[in-house]
Amino acid sequence: MNKQQIELWRQRLIEEEARLSGQIGKADIAELDDPSVALRILAVRKDTLAHVREAIQRCDKGSYGTCQVCGHEIEQERLGVVPYATTCAACTHSAQASRLRQEMAQQGQTALPRRMEKREGQADENGTEHIYPLGGLWR
Ligand SMILES: [Zn+2]
Repeated sequence: MNKQQIELWRQRLIEEEARLSGQIGKADIAELDDPSVALRILAVRKDTLAHVREAIQRCDKGSYGTCQVCGHEIEQERLGVVPYATTCAACTHSAQASRLRQEMAQQGQTALPRRMEKREGQADENGTEHIYPLGGLWR
């Protein structure tokens, strides 16, 4: 990503920071009936704000938009959805898959169910083709 592009993202992030900072001080969540829900929303907003601030720092350092795992550029479409993303779509998906495997291992399951190990578009023994969402999470 060139400096001009980073600067555009930086401006978006700064707007997002201002919006989130404003939300944290707002009374809307204090008015919720369930205080535990209000606290959870507040925690999420604070968390997101911290991520946004880190992303602004990455803009300043020039590392914004670079995947911290593989070093490739993070897809613009992904940044459009998660502007403070630190990993590209492929690395995010493989991290999700390994987290899932870890959780399954903890529950005593050693491998993904057979159905999930099949590659997208491959027919199983019954001749059924499986198509998986999330761009190959199961590969
Ligand atoms: Zn990556």
